[in-house]
Amino acid sequence: MSKSLLYDNHGRAINYLRLAVTDRCNLRCFYCMPEEGIEYVDKDDLMSYEEMERLIRLLVAMGVDKLRITGGEPFVRKDMMPFLEQLSQIEGLKKINITTNGTTTANLVPELKKIGIHSVNLSLDSLDRERFFRITRRDVFDKVMQTLDALLEEKIPVKINAVVMEEKNIEDILPLVELARHKPVGIRFIEEMPFNGSGAHPVRLSWDHLQILNHLRAYYPDLEKIPDPPFSTSQNYRVPGFAGTIGIIAAYSRTFCGTCNRIRITPQGLLKTCLYDGGVFNVRDLLRNGATDAQLRDAFLSALGNRAKNGFEAEQRRMGLPVSESMSTIGG
Ligand code: SAM
Ligand code: SF4
Repeated sequence: MSKSLLYDNHGRAINYLRLAVTDRCNLRCFYCMPEEGIEYVDKDDLMSYEEMERLIRLLVAMGVDKLRITGGEPFVRKDMMPFLEQLSQIEGLKKINITTNGTTTANLVPELKKIGIHSVNLSLDSLDRERFFRITRRDVFDKVMQTLDALLEEKIPVKINAVVMEEKNIEDILPLVELARHKPVGIRFIEEMPFNGSGAHPVRLSWDHLQILNHLRAYYPDLEKIPDPPFSTSQNYRVPGFAGTIGIIAAYSRTFCGTCNRIRITPQGLLKTCLYDGGVFNVRDLLRNGATDAQLRDAFLSALGNRAKNGFEAEQRRMGLPVSESMSTIGG
């Protein structure tokens, strides 16, 4: 990690920013949004590209060297490619990663490669067109597969994010693992979290990380643990002979908080020092009120000086406000 000026009150250095660039999305994934009635943030309330760039430059100067662009669906925001190109010029920013549903991305992949995007996480919860439709409520499975092929063709490192849900895609776990037999992809199974847009459906965590692992072990007895990269949220495995790897993310069980190196900024500029907190302060408001760089730096340092130890403490601090906002307003 580069010399970070950003430390939290638990001694953890922060070098990773996850920025949600929009709350808009062209899918309606069951676990993320209700089918209807989503109220988007007013356009003027979204941070502008200029505001986001200033913020990123400031945070890079404070030690952030890794950025994830997420949303909502990042590629539904107009002029996303020129923005990415602009960000790729920022000195000190070593990695720009993107999380996308891949529905409009296939023909952009060569340009993403040219810009130097380091890796892409592609959301794909099912390899069955019908089940994909039932989960995302849109019939665009082929588009996502085209994006996967394009990423592999361009040799952009790709991870597939699959949220594991009882009665939705348990049948897909093994076919998704099989994708990694010949393709160099990281398949990541994620515990479902309750961020689905105002309690659209209750989340009972029926498939936790242990159950996912037991399921994998039952079919792949030779599944072996491999070392996890530093600050990884996934526990990583490999089936001998497979080109790709398998990861399990205990997103609801929150087993990885101890090494958390990330902060999040929502499309309206709310800083979250934990996925489970209710937001600490609004960066956009500071920017629009004419804050100097020094004032912005102080605001970040003071927020990190009072960071929750883990996702459970962060959730407690919400003072009874339930975790029910849509993940499209946070970025995952
Ligand atoms: N639209 C893009 C996409 O779907 O990849 C980026 C934004 S999406 C909110 C980021 C990630 O959050 C996706 O991989 C999605 O699967 C995950 N996600 C959304 N809601 C979730 C939930 N309730 N529990 C677990 N993961 C969730
Ligand atoms: Fe859209 Fe991503 Fe949420 Fe699905 S997970 S509804 S693609 S923001």
